[in-house]
Amino acid sequence: MVHQPFSEWIVSDEPLTSAQRDELARHLADCPDCGRWQQAWAEVQLLLTRSAPVNPPLGFQARMMASLAAQRRRRHGQQAWLALGAILAGSVAMAVALIYFGAAGLAEGAGQLLKQLVVLRAAVAAGADLVGHVLAVLPPGGAELWRYSLLVALSGLALATYLGLGGLWAAAVYRFGSMQSRIGGSQ
Ligand SMILES: [Zn+2]
Repeated sequence: MVHQPFSEWIVSDEPLTSAQRDELARHLADCPDCGRWQQAWAEVQLLLTRSAPVNPPLGFQARMMASLAAQRRRRHGQQAWLALGAILAGSVAMAVALIYFGAAGLAEGAGQLLKQLVVLRAAVAAGADLVGHVLAVLPPGGAELWRYSLLVALSGLALATYLGLGGLWAAAVYRFGSMQSRIGGSQ
């Protein structure tokens, strides 16, 4: 039996004409070989369809993007609360320090403040060490002058520190404000 062109028609991507379909049907009625061939091809097609990459369900990408945006908003919200907490804690600490140091005298307060600052602790220790050595070798009158100069210098440092911290806090407040408006704007 001649199976051409029927076996090719079975696997062809091109749509058959109605005459070809009739011809193929007649051949398949008489030809078990082409019948099995058609069956096998149908199974292959089915397998290909099943193993094809599954398209994400409708709206999946939109839901994914919305979920990511919500996560980002939550993270920004947490950062904003952290910033607010830091600002509040810093403000309370600054108020307490101002009251304490204001009462105790700015010069002495400046020295205390500098000792409290971890970043400057090593420098202050080294400076105090140096000052101690200088004071030890200076005559009494000179030592008073050095002590006075040191207090003035520390006061200046304390003032600069206050101003610097104030600037940092102002920047934090500004950042917090713009963060809040961004979060509010994206909702
Ligand atoms: Zn055949």
